[in-house]
Amino acid sequence: MKFTFRTKINLALGAGLALLLLISVGSYSTIKGLLDDARTERNSQDTVLLLDRMVSQLKTTESWQRKYLITADTGDLKAYQAARTGVKNTLAEARAAVATTDEQRLWPSLEVSMAHGLESMDQSVKTRQESGLPAAAVQASSDSNRQFRENIDSLVESIKANGSLALQRLHDRTRSSAQVIKLLILAGGLLSLGPLGWAIFMLNHYEAKRRRAEAQLSDSVAMSRAVTEIMGEGVIITTADGLISNVNAAGLKLFGYELPELLGRPVTQLMPVRHRPAFEKYFNARLSQPEGFRESGRETRGLRKNGDEIALQLSFGNVTVDGKRLFTSIVHDITETKRISDALRASESRMRQVIDAVPALIAYVDAEQRIQFHNRAYEESLGLNYDQIHGKTLREVLSSDCYEEVRDKVEEALAGYSVSYERSQMKPQGGLRDYDMKYFPRYGEGEQKDRVIGFFALGNDITELKRIGRMKSEFVSTVSHELRTPLTSIRGSLGLIAGGVAGVLPDKAKSLVGIAKDNCERLIRLINDILDSEKIESGKMRFELQVTELKPLLEQALAANEGFAAQHKVALELDAPDDTLRATVDSDRFMQVVTNLLSNAVKFSPPQTAIQVRLLRADGRVRVEVRDHGSGIPQEFRPRIFQKFSQADSSDTRQKGGPGLGLNISRVIVERMSGRMDFSSEVGAGTTFFFELPEWPTIKSIVASTGPVTAGQPAPRPRILVCADDPDVAQLIGMMLDKGGFDADMVHSAAQALELLTIQAYAAMTVDLRLPDRDGVSLIRALRDEKHTRHLPVVVVSAMAEEGRLQFNNQPLMVSGWLEKPIDENRLILGLRRAIAGITGDKPRILHVEDDQDIQRITAAISQDLATFVFAATLEEARTHLRTHVVDAVLLDLDLGPEEASGSSLFGDIAQLEPAPPVVIFSASDVSDADRGHATAILLKAKTSDDELRATLMRTLTRPRSFHPKT
Ligand code: ADP
Repeated sequence: MKFTFRTKINLALGAGLALLLLISVGSYSTIKGLLDDARTERNSQDTVLLLDRMVSQLKTTESWQRKYLITADTGDLKAYQAARTGVKNTLAEARAAVATTDEQRLWPSLEVSMAHGLESMDQSVKTRQESGLPAAAVQASSDSNRQFRENIDSLVESIKANGSLALQRLHDRTRSSAQVIKLLILAGGLLSLGPLGWAIFMLNHYEAKRRRAEAQLSDSVAMSRAVTEIMGEGVIITTADGLISNVNAAGLKLFGYELPELLGRPVTQLMPVRHRPAFEKYFNARLSQPEGFRESGRETRGLRKNGDEIALQLSFGNVTVDGKRLFTSIVHDITETKRISDALRASESRMRQVIDAVPALIAYVDAEQRIQFHNRAYEESLGLNYDQIHGKTLREVLSSDCYEEVRDKVEEALAGYSVSYERSQMKPQGGLRDYDMKYFPRYGEGEQKDRVIGFFALGNDITELKRIGRMKSEFVSTVSHELRTPLTSIRGSLGLIAGGVAGVLPDKAKSLVGIAKDNCERLIRLINDILDSEKIESGKMRFELQVTELKPLLEQALAANEGFAAQHKVALELDAPDDTLRATVDSDRFMQVVTNLLSNAVKFSPPQTAIQVRLLRADGRVRVEVRDHGSGIPQEFRPRIFQKFSQADSSDTRQKGGPGLGLNISRVIVERMSGRMDFSSEVGAGTTFFFELPEWPTIKSIVASTGPVTAGQPAPRPRILVCADDPDVAQLIGMMLDKGGFDADMVHSAAQALELLTIQAYAAMTVDLRLPDRDGVSLIRALRDEKHTRHLPVVVVSAMAEEGRLQFNNQPLMVSGWLEKPIDENRLILGLRRAIAGITGDKPRILHVEDDQDIQRITAAISQDLATFVFAATLEEARTHLRTHVVDAVLLDLDLGPEEASGSSLFGDIAQLEPAPPVVIFSASDVSDADRGHATAILLKAKTSDDELRATLMRTLTRPRSFHPKT
C-alpha cells in the first residue's frame, strides 16, 4: 500500500502521540496508586500513635482507678472517669484511622477486650462504693483483670506489628511502582521519539523542498521575464484574437512605440498595410494548427510608428499559459544585414567582373587540391566551363601529363612554400602557350593557424613576352657577335699601327690612332657588357667556381689596369696583409668585377691621386674594397646606381660614360658567387665600392688520413658537413663523427655551408638551429630549394631542436633527425647513419626474428628505449619485412622450430640489402663458424644478461659501416 506524504506524517504523528498517551495513562494510574499508598501509610502511622496514646491513657485510667479505690475521693473518681472517657475517645479515633486490613482484623478483639477491661474497672469502682476497699481490691487484682490488661497489650502490639508489616509491603510496592514509572517514561519517550523525530525530519525536508521549488519557480519566471527583456530580438505576444498582449523592450524600441500604445491593439498594426491580408490568412491557418508549432527564419517587413518600413526576420510559435493560447513572434531587424549582404553581393559581382576581365589565370585550390575559385581566363585556358572546373580536383581538371608536371609544385605550395615556375600548355584551340605560374600558400585561421589550407594560383600568359624576349636576345647576340669580330681586328690593327708596324707615325696621326684605339676599346667593352647582361638575363652565364686565393687575383687585376690608371695619372695601391684569404669564385668573373670597379675609380679620380684596393676579412667574410678620391656619387643617383644603363646625370659623367651596365653586371656576378656588393660615398671626397664573399673556411679535415678537401671527389668515408655556430661544438661533433667512421668538414655559418655544398658532395649534414647569419630552419629551407641539396639528409643538433621541430610541423621529410644538446655520441652516429640510409622516424628499428613470443616480449621490454622492435616468427615473415621496410639491425634466432629451416638462411637476403643491416645472433644453441662470419655479435640465450643484450644492440646500432652513397 502506498501512502501519501501527508498520510505518512499523520500516521507517524498519531503513533507518537498514542505512545505518549499510553505512557501518560500508565504513569497516572501508577502515581495514583502511589498516592493512595502514601495516604494508607500516614493512616497506619496515625493508628500506631493513637494506640500508643490509648495505652498510656489506659495506664492513667488504671492509676486513677487505683487511687480512688484507696482514697474513695470524689476528685479522684472524676479524674478516673475523665481518663476513662479519653481512653474510649482515643480508641474511637484510632479505629477511624485504621487503614490496613491486617490491623482491622484484630480490631474487634481489641474493642471487646477494652470493653471488658473498662467494664471490670468500673465494676471495681462500684464494688468500692458499695462494699468497701477490701472487696474492691480483691476484685481489682483478680486474674481476669490482669488477663484483660495483658490481652490489650498483646493486641496493641499485634496491631502495631501488623501495621509495620503492611507498611513494609507498601514501601516495597512504592519502590517497584517508581521503577515501573521510570521504565515507562524511558521506553515511551524513546518509542515516541522515533516517529516524532521522523515526522519532524520529514516536515523539515518537505519544507526545504517546497522552498527550493518555490525559489526555482520564481526564478524561472523572473528569468524568462529578464531574458525576454534583455533579448536583442523583439518579442511580441499576441492573443488568439490577434491582439497584442505584451511586447518586450527590444520590440518597443524596434517599432518605436510605448507599451500602452500597443496593448490590446491588433498585431497587424506593426506591418505595412499591403502585408496585412496575407498575415491574417497565415495567422488563421496557424490557429487551426495543433499547439506547439514553431516556424523560424521567415523574412517579412515591419512598420514602425513613424511610418518607416523595416526588414525583419520572424520566428513564429505558440505557447499556452494558464490555459490561454498565446502566439509569440520573435522579430529580428535585418535591415542592416540585408543592406550589407546586398552591397556584398553587388561588390562580389563587380569583383567577379574585374577578375574575369583580368587576362591572367586566377584560381584558389584547397588542401584537397579542389579548385574552389577560378576566373574566366582560367576556363578559357583549359577550354572548360565553370561546372567542369568548380569543385573538381586538379587531377580531374588537368590532363594527366599536365597534372604530373605540376604535381610537385602543388605539393610544395600545400607544404607552405611560395612557388614560381613557368610552364607551357596546349590551348584547346591549338597552339602552345607559356605561362608564368605563381602559387601562394594560404594559412588557416584560429585552430588551423599554422596549417596550409590551400593556395592561390596566378598565371600570366607570357607567350608573347617570351617571343619578344627571344627575338631581342637573338638580335642582340647576333649584332654583338657580328660586331665583335670586326672590332677585334680594328683594335688589333690600330694597336699595330700605333706600335709603328706601318712606320713611324707623325705625332698628329699617332694621337688620332690613339683616340681611335681607345674608342674601339670602349666599343668592345660595351659589346661585352651587353652580351654579359644578356647572358645574365637568359640565365646562361656560366660560373666555374673554385676555391681560390684572392690576393694573387687582385694583384693580376691591378697589373692589368696599371696602364689605364697611368693614362689618368692615377696610382693603384694594393693592401692585402692576409694572403691566406680564400673564397669560392670564378676567377675570370672576379677579375671582371674588380676591373670594372677599378676602371670606374680611375675614371672618376682626379690626377695625382691614388686608388686603394684592400683585401680584408670582415665578419667571417672576405671583403674587397676599391677606394678613390674622386667626386663622389650624387645623393639622388645612389638609389639607381646598380640599375641597368644608369649614369649620374651630369655632363662630367656623361663624358666619361660607358653604357651604365658595368655595376649592374658586377653586382649580379658577386651575388652569383654568394656575395653582396655596395658602396659608400661622400660627394667631393671620394667613393668606396666594396664586395664581400663567403670566406672559404680554413677547414682542417679532422681525420688526418682523409687528406685535404678535394672538390667533387668522392671520399673514402662518408663525409658529413657540420654546421655549428660554436667552433668548440663543431670540433666536438667532428671528433664524435671521426670515431663513428665519418669524415667531417666544419663550418660556422649558413653562408659557408651553402658555399661548401656547391662544390663538395656530402653524405649528410648536421645543422645547429642558431647560426650567426641566418637561423638553421631557414638554412634547411634554402637547402630544400636548391636542386643539388634538395635530398641531402639533414640532422638537426641544437639546444632548440624542439622549437625547430615545431616550425617544421607537417613536413616530416624535411629533416631526418632531431638531436637535443648536450649531444649524445651514440644517438648522433645512429641519427646520421639512419639519415644516410634514408630512414626517418625517431627510433632505430630492429627486426627480431624469433618464434618464441615470450622471448620477443622480454627482449623488446629490455631494449625498448633503444629501438622499436618489429617481430617475425617465421622466415617468410622476416623476408617480407626486409623487402618492404628499412631496418637498422636484425636480431636473429637461428632455431625457429621444427617446421622452419635454420635462421641462417636469411643471411643471403640480408646481404643483398642496401644498406645491409647488421645481424646479431641470439640463439639457444652454439653457432657454427660459417654463421659466425655473418654476424656482428653472437649472444647465447641463457648466458646473456639483460645488460649485455642492451649493450650489444647499442654497439651494433652505432657501429661504423661501409658507406654506399645513395643515388
Ligand atoms: P659604366 O659601365 O658605364 O661604367 P657603371 O655601371 O660602371 O657604368 O657605372 C654607372 C655610373 O655610376 C657611372 O656612369 C657613374 O655615374 C657612377 N659611378 C660608378 N663608379 C663611380 C665612382 N667611383 N665615382 C663616381 N661615380 C661612379
